[in-house]
Amino acid sequence: MEDSVHQDCFCGSQKTFNVCCQPFLDHQQVPETAEALMRSRYSAYVTHNADYLLQTWHPECHAEQWQDELINGFAHTQWLGLRVISSSHDKNSDLAYVEFSACFIDEKADHKQLIHERSRFVRVGQQWLYIDEVTPKVGRNDLCPCGSEKKYKKCCGDN
Ligand SMILES: [Zn+2]
Ligand SMILES: [Zn+2]
Repeated sequence: MEDSVHQDCFCGSQKTFNVCCQPFLDHQQVPETAEALMRSRYSAYVTHNADYLLQTWHPECHAEQWQDELINGFAHTQWLGLRVISSSHDKNSDLAYVEFSACFIDEKADHKQLIHERSRFVRVGQQWLYIDEVTPKVGRNDLCPCGSEKKYKKCCGDN
């Protein structure tokens, strides 16, 4: 990474990396919202930061069991971008949901793939943690969650 200070953040926030996800990845700050945590986890995937991903999984998930899979996945996954579709911001709740889509190319499969999920986050003390997710239903004639403005069946649903 040449000039990381002025680089746009990977998470698509249109802020620079050093004022967006980097302070979280460097443990200088703790994300205040579930969405910020989710964005920083995406940036951790892009920057191959397995430790950060494992630390921000809820302990109940026993994410360490996926450590090898996670690290192996880094090598052949090329991330194309993140799109936050909706997020809940209830300041008084320790539970939050973020719906997002992320596209990537799995260099083994050699085609673009879409992740579309509604993730659930739990706050423990000051720290938001990722716990689990559901996959929202998308109709074949609905707009594609990847943000292309095309119908799902003509875009990422065309498999
Ligand atoms: Zn960011
Ligand atoms: Zn699409």
